Amino acid sequence: MATGQCLCGAVRYEVRGPLRDVLVCHCEECRRWHGHFSASTAVLKEYLVLIEQRGLRWIQSPRSDAQAWRGFCGECGSSLFWDPPGRQTVSIAAGTLDGPTGLRSVSHWFVSQAGDYYEIPDDGLPRHEHSGEAEP
Ligand SMILES: [Zn+2]
Ligand SMILES: [Zn+2]
Repeated sequence: MATGQCLCGAVRYEVRGPLRDVLVCHCEECRRWHGHFSASTAVLKEYLVLIEQRGLRWIQSPRSDAQAWRGFCGECGSSLFWDPPGRQTVSIAAGTLDGPTGLRSVSHWFVSQAGDYYEIPDDGLPRHEHSGEAEP
């Protein structure tokens, strides 16, 4: 069972089902929200169990076509969750998981929106423009 938390511990969670491999998203929304490109796993919503949610706040993403909700810690500012309505999964910022995660990054998304201040790693992973079903 995977576990994770925000920086301060005011949001802690357990994952009671299999986690998806990690998608790396370079879209502008992810970069602004996370401060850099995002790396996200995902799990069926019923498998995400909040152990501590004292700090948890949700905002509806102001730019996303998906009208997704973004969950963050109001006490320390960590960004944690991406919850698109109408989908069965919730995305989890991979950096909030406790290690070792056993996960691996498998693809890059929205590469045309990558910031001009970094190079997308030459890691051999597939690069995609639109996310479709796999929206990180
Ligand atoms: Zn926190
Ligand atoms: Zn994105």
